[in-house]
Amino acid sequence: METKTTVKSASVVKPLERAESHEDNAWHQAMLQLDRAALKMKLEPFVLERLRHCKRILTVSVPVKMDDGQVKVFEGYRIQHNMDRGPAKGGIRYHPLVCLDEVKALSFWMTMKCAVVNLPYGGAKGGIICDPKKMSKGEIERMTRRYTAEISLIIGPEKDIPAPDVNTNEQIMAWMMDTYSMTVGYSCPGVVTGKPIEVGGSLGRREATGRGVFYVTRELAAREGFDLRKAPVVIQGFGNVGSNAAKIFSDHGCKVIGISDVGGGLYDPKGLDISDIFHYREKNETIAGYAKAEHVDVDAFLELPCDILIPAAMENQLTKANAPKIKAKYVIEGANGPTSGEADRIFNERGIIVVPDILANAGGVTVSYFEWVQDMQSYFWSEKEINARLQEIIIGAFTEVFDLAKKEKVDMRLAAFMVGIRRLGKAASIRGMYP
Ligand code: NAD
Repeated sequence: METKTTVKSASVVKPLERAESHEDNAWHQAMLQLDRAALKMKLEPFVLERLRHCKRILTVSVPVKMDDGQVKVFEGYRIQHNMDRGPAKGGIRYHPLVCLDEVKALSFWMTMKCAVVNLPYGGAKGGIICDPKKMSKGEIERMTRRYTAEISLIIGPEKDIPAPDVNTNEQIMAWMMDTYSMTVGYSCPGVVTGKPIEVGGSLGRREATGRGVFYVTRELAAREGFDLRKAPVVIQGFGNVGSNAAKIFSDHGCKVIGISDVGGGLYDPKGLDISDIFHYREKNETIAGYAKAEHVDVDAFLELPCDILIPAAMENQLTKANAPKIKAKYVIEGANGPTSGEADRIFNERGIIVVPDILANAGGVTVSYFEWVQDMQSYFWSEKEINARLQEIIIGAFTEVFDLAKKEKVDMRLAAFMVGIRRLGKAASIRGMYP
């Protein structure tokens, strides 16, 4: 680590002192990844200690008048992990299993991701413990607006810019933008990204994460010397990331043989008709019941025979329990944190290459950055221009990480952490310590 600082950490840093357990605790897993990189890089304690702590954690109560007239209070969070390289950036998740440690981990991964692709942002994340599948549109809108008002203390286009994540979408971003604009007294599109085009959203944002996943996979195929169109693909999750990835892979002539959502999976070794499944889901709001493919259990799904496996749903899907049974040669992490530390180790032993989340799914935050730049300038770019710039950034980051992994003889996750931490360490060191 070449950064120099005169600041010494007060505490003694002992990397990797945690046992490789707690697979289901995302923060614990994230800290294991950090410690592993710190050990390899002989990272200065000053930098490591900073990265081990979130800069700001806000917990809010969100009272909502439900449709039956009762008031229900939801718990929400907004966490800013690090802002050394610019305003904080990261999505908002609505899910019954949201918890503080999960949001902390997701905010940490956003810091690392923005540093790996070299965007001028730090990392943040937010979430509300709720089950939006059991709420009406009106209840979700009222919850979103009150949550936005509660976190408006710390968000803003120059401070912290939320975006969609699991179970949040363009409409929810529009409500957040409107609520924030009402509190400041003028229209402020740059406060969130992933908005509808009509209120300052960017062309290409909806597909951006899936497109980034495709770009890194295509680049990996070129470097590893295999024909992507002959490599069967299985994708877990059919939301924003998974469904757009499936469409883009299929549009490029690749064979997507498996897709799934929370209810189960569809499998056809000859290749699924992705546009037909999109039409089916439009009518039925789910892929369950689609008749032209074999149905597969959620648990068995990840073990389907394939070359490329793209987890694009939730954390901790690839664990010590199923890692030995995974048939894929390449795992491309569309989701954040889908692979536990133990699964990572097993994949390394088995020669399975993992393209880590902080690189593989960085297409989303990259086009969110473009959206924010366009909003701040009130000048909008063509989709062609956006996709070309996205490709340049993602391939540039992939090349840097892949080459470092080869040079240092480490896996791609460790290489990506090394690239990100170097940038973060330099920023922390140059800025110095206040006061
Ligand atoms: P989403 O809400 O649009 O979709 C989530 C999908 O996962 C749904 O199809 C859901 O049914 C499915 N799912 C949930 N639990 C599952 C399970 N146990 N098994 C199988 N499928 C399951 O969310 P999204 O925005 O697509 O996000 C998916 C992942 O990608 C998350 O980890 C998120 O943090 C990450 N991510 C999202 C973006 C983005 O731009 N939206 C960017 C980077 C990373």
